Amino acid sequence: MKDTWPLLDKIAFPAIARGALQTLQVNVGYRCNQSCVHCHVNAGPNRTEEMDGATADVVLAFLERRRVATLDITGGAPELNPNFRRLVVAARDMGVKVMDRHNLTIQEQPGQADLAEFLAANQVEIVASMPCYLQDNVDKQRGKGVYDGSIRALQRLNALGYGREDSPLTLNLVYNPLGPSLPPPQGELEADYKRILGERFGISFNNLFTLANMPIQRFGAILLSQGQFDAYLDKLLRAHRDENLDGVMCRSLLSVDYRGYVYDCDFNQMLDLPLTWGTRERVHLSDLFDSDISGNPIRVAGHCFGCTAGQGSSCGGALKEAAE
Ligand code: SF4
Ligand code: SF4
Repeated sequence: MKDTWPLLDKIAFPAIARGALQTLQVNVGYRCNQSCVHCHVNAGPNRTEEMDGATADVVLAFLERRRVATLDITGGAPELNPNFRRLVVAARDMGVKVMDRHNLTIQEQPGQADLAEFLAANQVEIVASMPCYLQDNVDKQRGKGVYDGSIRALQRLNALGYGREDSPLTLNLVYNPLGPSLPPPQGELEADYKRILGERFGISFNNLFTLANMPIQRFGAILLSQGQFDAYLDKLLRAHRDENLDGVMCRSLLSVDYRGYVYDCDFNQMLDLPLTWGTRERVHLSDLFDSDISGNPIRVAGHCFGCTAGQGSSCGGALKEAAE
């Protein structure tokens, strides 16, 4: 797979620094039941990297010690990690809000029949990828049959109370473009999703987050092989807005890999750009139990324009609307 980092490294991005830590985003492994074309993790069924029990214990100890408000669990498909449910239950017992980056079709994989009930019982906020309300586009990006499986999963979640106006169970969907274009306005697209999924399937959800595709890993390699890398980067750079710099997720989030090493965000994790801290080459979560990293410089390069182009992208969707 062609690597875009040598090109991204040459592109300057404005200097930014970390703020107060609000969210610990933990990547528990790169295994996934899907192999989506835009995946910035390059996740798939054959990946073997996985967080072990001892590292999961470090995550829980850090949450307790630093009183972090939110645990955001991602992957791959995070539910495939044997420690997933233990992490959820222990974090909820501490009063920590838990988010699951959920691909919907995982609910129909072996051993996951009670997953939706488990998530509901623990009031886990679900952030589910649903790159279009049309079958063709979803199956093209995420694989044949993914659309139907996703619809069944959303209906299962709705039946448990997720995404209903009068319910505390939050179900947010994530949209990303099929190719090298910027996402359309979040509010308008959310209204279309709600209307079409509601009319056709009786599905409801809380918010739609629109995210730009990052020019790294699998999507980056496709851009390179199709000769579209320069044009996509140019599009991101031209659409950059300085006012988006305040809201980028790396200001308040710390990303942890399956071994416990830390990064400013999940994208930097995938580019293997560890958090800069003193003279250390690599920083482990256990090194930070007593350290405040606010004010620390964030490692930035050309890929960061994926977060600041147009309406901006963070793990909570478009920056302007996410902040409202
Ligand atoms: S985008 Fe999500 S669902 Fe698709 S392969 Fe990557 S981790 Fe799996
Ligand atoms: S990719 Fe986005 S979240 Fe990550 S360091 Fe760059 S601006 Fe921050």
